Amino acid sequence: MLHHLGDESITRNFINGEFIEPRSASWLDVIEPATVTRYTRCPASNTSDVDLAVEAAANAAHAWARTPARERSAIMLRIADGIERHLDRLALAESIDTGKPIALARSVDIPRAAANFRFFATAILHARGDLHEMDGGTGPTGGNAVNYTLRRPLGVVGLISPWNLPLYLLTWKIAPAIAAGNACICKPSEVTPMTAMLLGEILSDAGLPRGVVNIVHGRGEETGGAIVTHPGVRGVSFTGSTRVGTWIGERCGAALKKCSLELGGKNPFVVFDDAELDVAVKTCVRASFANQGQICLCGSRLLVQRGIYEAFVTRFTERARAIKLGDPLDEQTQHGALVSTQHAAKVASYVAKARALRAEVLLGGSYIDADHLSARCAGGEGSAFFEPTILAGLPNDCDVIQDEIFGPVVTIQRFEDEAGAVRLANSTRYGLASSVWTTDLSRAHRVADAVDSGIVWINCWMVRDLRTPFGGTKSSGVGREGGDEAFRFFTEPKNVCVQL
Ligand code: NAD
Repeated sequence: MLHHLGDESITRNFINGEFIEPRSASWLDVIEPATVTRYTRCPASNTSDVDLAVEAAANAAHAWARTPARERSAIMLRIADGIERHLDRLALAESIDTGKPIALARSVDIPRAAANFRFFATAILHARGDLHEMDGGTGPTGGNAVNYTLRRPLGVVGLISPWNLPLYLLTWKIAPAIAAGNACICKPSEVTPMTAMLLGEILSDAGLPRGVVNIVHGRGEETGGAIVTHPGVRGVSFTGSTRVGTWIGERCGAALKKCSLELGGKNPFVVFDDAELDVAVKTCVRASFANQGQICLCGSRLLVQRGIYEAFVTRFTERARAIKLGDPLDEQTQHGALVSTQHAAKVASYVAKARALRAEVLLGGSYIDADHLSARCAGGEGSAFFEPTILAGLPNDCDVIQDEIFGPVVTIQRFEDEAGAVRLANSTRYGLASSVWTTDLSRAHRVADAVDSGIVWINCWMVRDLRTPFGGTKSSGVGREGGDEAFRFFTEPKNVCVQL
């Protein structure tokens, strides 16, 4: 039975299979954004806490790497079962911690965390290696030999995740890391640590050997920085902002560590005149405002062709207006709180910039009034509740269109033709995801090819096959997660050449 949320016995670091107080003896308040009250605290770990975790991981790594794949797989499947067994409690924790609607946490975040373990647990049972035969011949590369390539775990790896999809994204890293035979040090976001704390218990109950997964809580620079720069950590997988990712990339480069960086986005959704309007509108509304717009894959720039523009904007705005705002813990709520009052203030500051540029505010643009929320919630000016907001009439080079806002704010721009659409789509520093809406098959493929992004959806959004490469180009990151790409990152190849 999992502890109650906020239980003092669990709001600790999980190191070597035990919940322990931080050596730093210092703590951070964890705030529920919907009520803006402290509901628990988490460790503010320092370098010596990270040292302890790395020591535990290093001690566990050798035996875990040599544990047969079938056994690793069985443990991971039990972890997935444990997550599913505790679905309700984990969903509640995720909703309280992040402000996301509980129905979303229950239907997406937590099931996906279980799916991450299941996917990589079964993938390792079907792994295969490379073999390169040489058939003799003369010259500098001549030889009659066979090469086979072994893939071995890196050893101890650091996994650092953000606050928007806390358990979903942390497990997206833990699962491939341990499936490949690594031991890890995880640092969830200090803003949303609760589900990672609960995960510690599930890992223990599933029989994961001590030290294979260690969870250290704390501030980004202090705790995360100590993980990144620790000489015992051989690779770092990071998901978060481009600013922090750049810092991590520099440190990893200097220490010649492998790193994978999944960073910000400003994703264009390109809607052509011949798109199926109903499905395009429906999906674009979901893509713009799901999780209050705090998904790295959200469509934040809608580019709409001239012929369909008026009809699209009218229907898009109508549909977005129907989104049910409310208390994240209300089952009917579709749009809850943003992750913090600070983040909502950042979102509000971009809307203020848009207003200063005389943007058309087609919907929203304000904090959500307390009247729309249950009595326990803190709404209104300065709260964490912000309306779904649609802006039009902005110049393409302004901050509102160029910067990642990461909230419930979408801009709409008009384009004339395919070339113009591609130009606009590629006009920011980011290149994470894009979505193309057209019934012209050739155009769909042409535009998919021309758009600079790691992921392109055609006539859909967020359809995810966990085997496919996941990640961004330009300032959206370096490297890919998912399927074989994840295994490639979490292993080191070793080529063995045998003269025949
Ligand atoms: P963030 O970069 O502020 O923090 C992410 C994590 O890094 C947190 O755990 C934080 O404590 C830690 N951190 C901060 N400074 C650090 C440092 N110097 N060294 C090591 N760790 C450090 O990001 P955030 O605000 O938590 O999350 C929002 C961002 O994440 C957005 O930019 C969003 O686009 C991005 N994101 C990207 C993806 C993706 O797959 N590309 C997915 C989700 C979120």
